[in-house]
Amino acid sequence: MAEFSLDNILRNNVKKLVPYSSARSEFEGDAQIFLDANENSLGSSIDVNYNRYPDPLQKQLKQKLSSIKDIATENIFVGNGSDEAIDLLIRAFCNPGVDNILIFPPTYGMYEVAAEINDVAINKVLLTEDFQLNIEAAKVAIDSNTKIIWICSPNNPTGNLLAEESIEWLLKNFHGIVVVDEAYIDFASKDSWIKRLNEYSNLVVLQTLSKAWGLAGLRIGFAYASKEIINVLNKIKPPYNISEATQQLAFLALQNEEEAKEKTIVLIQQKERLLQEFQQFDFIKKIYPSDANFILIKVENASDLYKYLLSKTIVVRNRSNQPLCENSLRVTIGTPEENDQLLMALKEYK
Ligand SMILES: *Cc1c(COP(=O)(O)O)cnc(C)c1O
Repeated sequence: MAEFSLDNILRNNVKKLVPYSSARSEFEGDAQIFLDANENSLGSSIDVNYNRYPDPLQKQLKQKLSSIKDIATENIFVGNGSDEAIDLLIRAFCNPGVDNILIFPPTYGMYEVAAEINDVAINKVLLTEDFQLNIEAAKVAIDSNTKIIWICSPNNPTGNLLAEESIEWLLKNFHGIVVVDEAYIDFASKDSWIKRLNEYSNLVVLQTLSKAWGLAGLRIGFAYASKEIINVLNKIKPPYNISEATQQLAFLALQNEEEAKEKTIVLIQQKERLLQEFQQFDFIKKIYPSDANFILIKVENASDLYKYLLSKTIVVRNRSNQPLCENSLRVTIGTPEENDQLLMALKEYK
């Protein structure tokens, strides 16, 4: 396989694209009176100052993130959830009807959906029985039109980290982009791949405020990559993809990092508790190890247990239709009280 070159894999239309230029980015100097963007200078009907367009490049937010993550702002992309970054990556690198991506099911569903929306073919190589990457099978599946490999670590829905050596092999030998989706990294016992960005120019790391930071409703996700890849994403994104309200609230959350960390510790303790307690139930056939904020369990009859829990007003995710996940439920770690109720319900099952 050839050396990675951004120029080689970027779509031609993206290479040639002249991006939208927003009013605010077209002047330099000390303006006080803004008559350049057709905003409403009188303000709105609510008592907040959102009458101006937000910063398209979210500089304040990136500076805060830069100091927390110890990475330059030019290596950060901010998206409307990681899901926006997933879609933009596919649109930047994959020619519809021609190119393909490689995914390792069972995994996060959005890689496949985003590819399908963009008419990009999906190559699938199943994880091994112990939910690790099958590199031998991946070698066979990769062809000259494979542009992006998606790796989810810790993986959703299985909960485990994927072996470093396998990810390294792909980064070194694959000619395209390797995305490592780290939505659950704050719950994990290993370091982020962000630290390896200097080594691999084809690495993109995804993170989000939706899980450990407790802000799924806000819609903020991050892509970390080389300056060149980040520039491509910025070029093709909707100019105002992150609202002013969202930028301000995300900034506040990042300022309050300690509180997010404390909550993460509680959730990890609660996970250890559930991993322990689940062992008493003989209808739970397998409890998979988890580096995330959820636990995958294999049970005797997943749809029966799913319906039973629902009758107790508890909803979990039935993943039984996923490959390697027959009769498997994915259980998110709740508050201590919610977990009490889950355990109580399980004790009354059958
Ligand atoms: C939850 C999750 C995300 C988060 O997506 P957002 O759009 O940032 O909310 C990304 N990847 C995986 C694997 C997830 O499970």
